[in-house]
Amino acid sequence: MDRKKFLKALAILPAIGATMKLSELGKMSEGLSNTDRLPVLFLGHGSPMNAIEENEFVTGFRRVSSEIARPTAILCISAHWETQGTFVTAMNNPPTIHDFGGFPKALFDVQYPAPGSPELAKETQNLVKKTQVGLDEKWGLDHGAWSVIKHLYPNADVPVIQMSLDYRQSPQWHYDLAKELSALRRKGVLIVGSGNMVHNLGKVAWNKLNEVGFAYDWATEANEKMKSSIQSGNHEPLINFRSQGKAFDLAIPTPEHFLPLLYTLALQEKGEDVSLFNDRAVAGALTMTSVKIG
Ligand code: ZN
Repeated sequence: MDRKKFLKALAILPAIGATMKLSELGKMSEGLSNTDRLPVLFLGHGSPMNAIEENEFVTGFRRVSSEIARPTAILCISAHWETQGTFVTAMNNPPTIHDFGGFPKALFDVQYPAPGSPELAKETQNLVKKTQVGLDEKWGLDHGAWSVIKHLYPNADVPVIQMSLDYRQSPQWHYDLAKELSALRRKGVLIVGSGNMVHNLGKVAWNKLNEVGFAYDWATEANEKMKSSIQSGNHEPLINFRSQGKAFDLAIPTPEHFLPLLYTLALQEKGEDVSLFNDRAVAGALTMTSVKIG
C-alpha cells in the first residue's frame, strides 16, 4: 500500500477505533516510567499460616516494606508456580489461589484482591531475551506470593504479577534470566523472590512445629554457609548448590523453594548493600531467612 492509499484508509477508520489504536501505540512506546532504583527482596514464606498469624516473621515483612519506597507494581517469583517454559500472569484481576490442604477455613477465606498489570507482563515479555516469556491468563496469585505480599501491602493496592519457574532449567539458567529483569528496578517495580533457603518438609519435626529457633545441625550448617555466600557477594556456591555436600542436599531436596533466592541475588548490582532479616529456623528443617538488596 502506498502512502496516499494508507492515509485514505486511515481516514475511513471509525474515529473511536483510531483513538484506541493511537493510545495503545503510546503505551507501547512509553512503557513504565523511570524511577529511582528499588531494592529487591527474597522472602522466606514458610507455613501458609503466616498469612493470618501475628508473629515475628510478619513483623519483619511489615518492617521491610516500611523501609522501601512504594512500588508501582510487584513482580513475584514464587516457589509454588512451576511450569514448562516461562510465563508471567497477564490478567487484570488475578484470583487468590489456595494451593494447599489441611489448613483451617480462615486461611481458605483469605482473599488478596491486588490488581494485575497486563502492562508490566508485556514489558517483562519484551525485556527478556533468554527465552520466550508467555502471557498467562489462568494462574493468579499463589500462596507463595499472597501470604507474604499481604503483609507488605495489606490494602492490596499495588498491582502484582507472578513469573513462573521453568522446572526443566538449571540454576545457572535461572540466575542469568533474572539478570535480564534488572531494568524493572528503575521502573518502580519491586521484584520479590518467595521461597525458603532451607526447606525439607520430609524432615520437619512436626511435634516442634511452633518451636521457632529449633534447627537440625545440617539445617544450621547449610543456612550459615548460604548466609556467608550472600553477605560476601560470592554467589557461585549458591548457583552450584548441588556440589556443596550433604548439608545442602538435605536443605534443598528439590530446587523450587531455593531458586527464587537466585533470582533475587542475580539482581544485586555493584556496591549494593545486602541485609538479612527473619533469620530464624522453624521446626528443624525450614529457615525463614530473608534478604533485602539495596
Ligand atoms: Zn512454600
